[in-house]
Amino acid sequence: MSEALEPGAAIGILGGGQLGRMLSVAASRLGLRTHIYDPGAEPPAGHVAEKVTTAAWDDEAALRAFAASVDVITYEFENIPAATLDLLETLRPVRPNRRALAVSQDRLMEKDFLTGLGLTTAPYRDVPTLPALEAAIAEIGPQGILKTRRLGYDGKGQARLKGAEDAAGAYAEMGGAEAILEGFVQFSHEVSVIAARGVTGEVACFDPGENVHEAGILRTTAVPARLAPGQHMDAILLAGKILNALDYVGVMGVELFVTAKGLVVNEIAPRVHNSGHWTQAGCTVDQFEQHIRAVAGWPLGNGQRYADVVMENLIGEDVAKVPALAKAADVQIHLYGKGAPRPGRKMGHVNRITRG
Ligand code: AMP
Repeated sequence: MSEALEPGAAIGILGGGQLGRMLSVAASRLGLRTHIYDPGAEPPAGHVAEKVTTAAWDDEAALRAFAASVDVITYEFENIPAATLDLLETLRPVRPNRRALAVSQDRLMEKDFLTGLGLTTAPYRDVPTLPALEAAIAEIGPQGILKTRRLGYDGKGQARLKGAEDAAGAYAEMGGAEAILEGFVQFSHEVSVIAARGVTGEVACFDPGENVHEAGILRTTAVPARLAPGQHMDAILLAGKILNALDYVGVMGVELFVTAKGLVVNEIAPRVHNSGHWTQAGCTVDQFEQHIRAVAGWPLGNGQRYADVVMENLIGEDVAKVPALAKAADVQIHLYGKGAPRPGRKMGHVNRITRG
């Protein structure tokens, strides 16, 4: 299918969290309908989508019915089982494509792909066994982070190594999961580029944002990021290189470390990204509309930045600040319609315009 979707067409979204919710809102503004598929009951996206299917990832009948009801399928998180996609992609176009998902689901494949493109990542080694980990430490040094190859997010499935003596303990923490060792990168700060590629191959990048994490969870993103002019251009060019190499369609988040020697790619996320929420207040077309435009076969929109913005996540009990935030000028509030706040749970975010 290369035609652009017309008003009334439907987009299927795998996953119904806050990203699926904001994608659904963007789609509905363009006259498109959305259908959410999520194994969990009452997904936040369900409040704003036309249809919701609550079924397991291996429920073949539910997957077939879901695919039959939509024109194109996209996703809001990357840990979708391979067998689910095997079936869905025989029924409808899945955007972004399978390779993008496979690369981002596995840290080893991701690093091999990025270094294969000539991009710089942390030094890394595949460590299938404890002796392999010890050998990797001997090669890339004792300061590092052991990370599971799959299913890690928000800093989970990671163990910091400060010396060779930490090897056995860190290895045990992986609980038998396949892992890689990454050398510790001495970075001054972290930035990310939210980039989009359309079905015709056009690429548009938003300005890089500067990210601050706390306990492995994104706390704030500020634009503009502190970057030298050359680094700003490097960040955008490398994001474009990644999208082109994957023949990507949709929005991607590319996380980077800023070091004295240049930019180091940390990881890629084949979806709209928390560090791109600032675009809702800073751009005419935000990351959610950009993703919907791309997967719907529309031309990409203008992602130019018109304001300085600080995005702050409302995590757990932060949500109690909303009544006070609602009184503040220049603050855009987004709440995800989730139930009770729990520590670490992303309840919403605010975009504060710091210079209009
Ligand atoms: P990740 O889940 O891989 O994005 O890692 C979560 C956070 O841990 C990153 O945002 C960094 O702050 C930190 N981190 C991850 N990998 C490295 C590394 N190789 N060197 C230094 N810090 C890292």
